[in-house]
Amino acid sequence: RFITLEGGEGAGKSTQLRRLLARLQAAGIDAVGTREPGGSTGAEIMRHLILSGAAKPLGPLAEATLFAAARADHLDATIRPALARGAWVVCDRFADSTRVYQGALGNVDPRLIAALEEVTVGETRPDLTLILDLPAEEGLARAAARSGRDADRFESEGLSFHRALREAFRALATSEPERCLLIDASGTADTVEEAIWQAVSTRLKL
Ligand code: C5P
Repeated sequence: RFITLEGGEGAGKSTQLRRLLARLQAAGIDAVGTREPGGSTGAEIMRHLILSGAAKPLGPLAEATLFAAARADHLDATIRPALARGAWVVCDRFADSTRVYQGALGNVDPRLIAALEEVTVGETRPDLTLILDLPAEEGLARAAARSGRDADRFESEGLSFHRALREAFRALATSEPERCLLIDASGTADTVEEAIWQAVSTRLKL
């Protein structure tokens, strides 16, 4: 089983990934946690390029191909081997982030985004995508409050950017209701953890 967590800045994806992994493992499931950009040796090098600002001169189109290259390595080195041995994989961000950040917000041609997805992701599509949803103001406040981690690339963007981000993720949830589920991420970490666990156990029939 392949589960992805998506959402804007400060939505709590990494906290919830840790909690979901712990729950799955407690249920006796072999579960692997990973993240994008990154998640494999090659893709972590690209993560550094992207988050350090070294790749800043790239426009959204070139950036989308860089994310796709990182994703191809991540799939080959980490995700597919884990799924092949029967483990569950839970990933913090995946191809939907490229659809939203470089596609919807970066205006990269959706046909290119779809083509990149087709050749990199192929059949390895998530069984379930949980989209952590919260008001842009709250996400921004949370993202600004945390320290000691990679600075978010879009923290300096205005509220309108974060609102557009939220709307793009919500539109995605509406467009693929079989795979995607919107999770209200505005509550406490415990409340969100419970909502996620309910969704995972119901949708994936635990
Ligand atoms: O999830 P996390 O906050 O660690 O993501 C790192 C940064 O990369 C974020 O600022 C995110 O918005 C950005 N990103 C992006 N395009 C993607 C995936 C992530 O711009 N396809």
